[in-house]
Amino acid sequence: MHRFFVSPGQIEDGLVTIEGEDFKHITKVLRLRDDEAIEVCDGRGTDYIACVETVGKDSLKGRILESRPSRGETDSLRVTLFQGVPKGQKMESVIQKCVEAGAASIVPFTSERTVVKLGDKEEKKTRRWQRVAYEAAKQSKRGIIPHVAEVTTLSAVADTLDNYDLVLIAYEGEEESSLKDVISCLEFDPERIAVIIGPEGGFAPAEVAMIEEAGGYSVSLGRRILRTETAGVVLLAQLNFFYED
Ligand code: SAM
Repeated sequence: MHRFFVSPGQIEDGLVTIEGEDFKHITKVLRLRDDEAIEVCDGRGTDYIACVETVGKDSLKGRILESRPSRGETDSLRVTLFQGVPKGQKMESVIQKCVEAGAASIVPFTSERTVVKLGDKEEKKTRRWQRVAYEAAKQSKRGIIPHVAEVTTLSAVADTLDNYDLVLIAYEGEEESSLKDVISCLEFDPERIAVIIGPEGGFAPAEVAMIEEAGGYSVSLGRRILRTETAGVVLLAQLNFFYED
């Protein structure tokens, strides 16, 4: 069944209104007829099954037949990925894979060993990254569209970490502690988790110390050094294994 994101305001009185690009796609590309079923998601974790009822010039209305919580979301886990901005197109790959793996939001940051210089391209890049998150959310049947924040700095990130139940900094120099070790010391199941991944050059020890002072745990992702674009998705997969219901 074809699936579309709509805003909550497009759902009213048992009807969903679809316009814009999705309307064109449904009528011109998919050529869906009256009574054909579509799935829409309000971007807040609820899916609706609707059948096409009336097709106008610029919009169509679908009658909602049923609603249910989006299968792509869980209440038990909400992970924010803080990602050191990598070179070239790699951030797009990070966003795509981490949205598929369940990240609830993504915050790109610069740090001591960041190589890339965004300059005046920053705004354009952020818009492009938000589009990548939207496409990945659609493809992977997420119930929300993960937000991609504007680029910040690692020091600014450190100031926001109070908002999380658990903060993990994946550190390539960590030889002792794994996620499993950290979890075995916790006396609760964390829901809001921050995951911090370094850029290609990794983290300076002082940066790791700064995150630890802010309450974070440094974790190893194993014996091998992963590419920056691999590390986030690996840590998300580990968290899903332990916590996703
Ligand atoms: N030079 C490679 C690149 O160009 O992508 C490797 C970069 S690695 C230093 C980048 C980040 O991935 C690290 O700062 C860390 O957050 C994470 N990472 C990679 N391998 C790791 C490991 N074995 N344990 C913990 N974190 C790791």
